[in-house]
Amino acid sequence: MPDCLFCQIIAGDIPAEVVAETSTAFAFRDVNPQAPLHVLVVPRTHAADVGELAEVEPGTVPELVRVARQVATEAGHDSYRLVVNTGAEAGQTVLHAHLHVLAGRALAWPPG
Ligand code: AMP
Repeated sequence: MPDCLFCQIIAGDIPAEVVAETSTAFAFRDVNPQAPLHVLVVPRTHAADVGELAEVEPGTVPELVRVARQVATEAGHDSYRLVVNTGAEAGQTVLHAHLHVLAGRALAWPPG
């Protein structure tokens, strides 16, 4: 999707600090980190959100979770939070499916 920010990051057209890559998943640091570790794990295939990805490429959803765990544990974090904002009212601002991986500080519950 030419106008999609995360598709442009995956293509290398917009710079990002890449921390993991597989054949179906891509992980890079969030530009506005909300925790000492804040990484976005995204599918290479464009889908507007994780629910849509589950419909069009279901095998990639567990791969995103696997890569998220790998990123957290390689950074030394046994505890981490995965956040999936879906829809504008839930805080989604980029319409390309992504998991936020947050770790490195105490995280309050419930989230805001
Ligand atoms: P969401 O609000 O759940 O859609 O998350 C989108 C995330 O993308 C936000 O946490 C932003 O800080 C992050 N973001 C926006 N632009 C970039 C960028 N160029 N590189 C890395 N992260 C970005």
